[in-house]
Amino acid sequence: MQKDDILRLLRDVNLIPSEKQTLLSNIAAQAAAMDMPCYIVGGFVRDLLLSKPVSDLDIIVEGDAVKFGNALVKKFGGKLTPHHKFHTAIWHLPETWNLVPGTLDLITARKETYERRGALPAVTPSTIKDDLLRRDFTINAMAIRLDGDHFGELLDPLNGQADLEEGLIRILHPRSFIDDPTRIFRAIRYEARYSFNLEHSTFGLINFESLDVIPRLSGERIRHEFDLIFEEEKSSQMILRAGELGLFKPIHPKLPLFNPDYSDFLEMDPTLDIPASRTAMGYMLWLMDSSEDEILSIGRRLDFTSELTYSVWAVSQLKKSLPFLTGSTPSVWTFALEKLPLLSIYVVYLVAREDALLDFLSLWRHVKPHTTGDDLKARGLEPGPRFGEILIQLRAAWLDGDVHSFDDELHLLEMWLK
Ligand code: ATP
Repeated sequence: MQKDDILRLLRDVNLIPSEKQTLLSNIAAQAAAMDMPCYIVGGFVRDLLLSKPVSDLDIIVEGDAVKFGNALVKKFGGKLTPHHKFHTAIWHLPETWNLVPGTLDLITARKETYERRGALPAVTPSTIKDDLLRRDFTINAMAIRLDGDHFGELLDPLNGQADLEEGLIRILHPRSFIDDPTRIFRAIRYEARYSFNLEHSTFGLINFESLDVIPRLSGERIRHEFDLIFEEEKSSQMILRAGELGLFKPIHPKLPLFNPDYSDFLEMDPTLDIPASRTAMGYMLWLMDSSEDEILSIGRRLDFTSELTYSVWAVSQLKKSLPFLTGSTPSVWTFALEKLPLLSIYVVYLVAREDALLDFLSLWRHVKPHTTGDDLKARGLEPGPRFGEILIQLRAAWLDGDVHSFDDELHLLEMWLK
């Protein structure tokens, strides 16, 4: 692609909103003033060349990113969080710019060495070329230069453009997946997201040797990869593919394959008024048919929060209890479901289509009697366990259709208190 084509893409407001274009020009001007080569890299360049709207900006300088960040803050405002040890900084953009996200990562071009398989690499400042050479795939290893007259120059030392045109995901060197097997998960995401293919030898390197490094990855890093998968539009395709490529056993021997019958539910956002999360729904659908011990053990391996483990466990328990609950009165359903996370109930509804679950989520959980503890006190009742019982029974009467009005409720209450 010629520089003119790239300039045209950089000026396309359908791909880069005008506020972000202004941000880029400001960065470019400051870099030029400091004589500091400055680049935009990674996903931004990949998506721009695909003529897709770009996401986050990653800025790399050949020089000190913290010094560059301080100069940007001085000139344009905002705040800087420097990480001197990593030669990086986060620029908290001026609030008046109203940009989302409101922060920008500034990074010093670096070289990486892997001292131990599966661990994070050691980094040292270097050139943009070295920085591109440490990346995951050729399509992510391109940079566009921003400073001064260089604005719009494409750096593509690994011929990522050709792979982009052919729709190929290609690692940069044969040890890539061994150095960092999270790249296998990333490859799967790009493959489905863009309907690309894994280049032949790249595919071949997802083998015994690289899968063997997966057990060394921390739970947090693996979970992060699954979180990213579940946030994608084509997540079901990706999680099925991950299973097919044998990624699960090395993570945890009991990690099951994703049930393809549940695929459609992954794409579904709850229409009900309940707190939803695509990632939590993903784990619930994936693990709901595992045993209690397996869920706890997998949750520990993937470093789940206790809340997430509980929600997944609740799905599995509720699904197992359905045969015992089916045909119960609304009050029995309600008292059984009430302590469970709403999203867990919704997920069981999706797979089991038990109408009572939907009735609970949309109606029953909101049903309360008019009478309160204070009302009972005003009627001369001593506060105690009986209080709670009466209120529960009144609620059950509403749920089960034994009372239909406030008068009915009072009548029932008076009968009980006689
Ligand atoms: P996405 O659209 O999936 O967010 P992205 O390219 O913006 O894609 P990030 O995870 O934000 O992805 O990473 C930014 C860049 O950092 C990538 O484009 C890639 O060049 C590099 N990168 C990220 N993770 C790795 C990795 N594990 N190994 C090597 N390079 C990586």
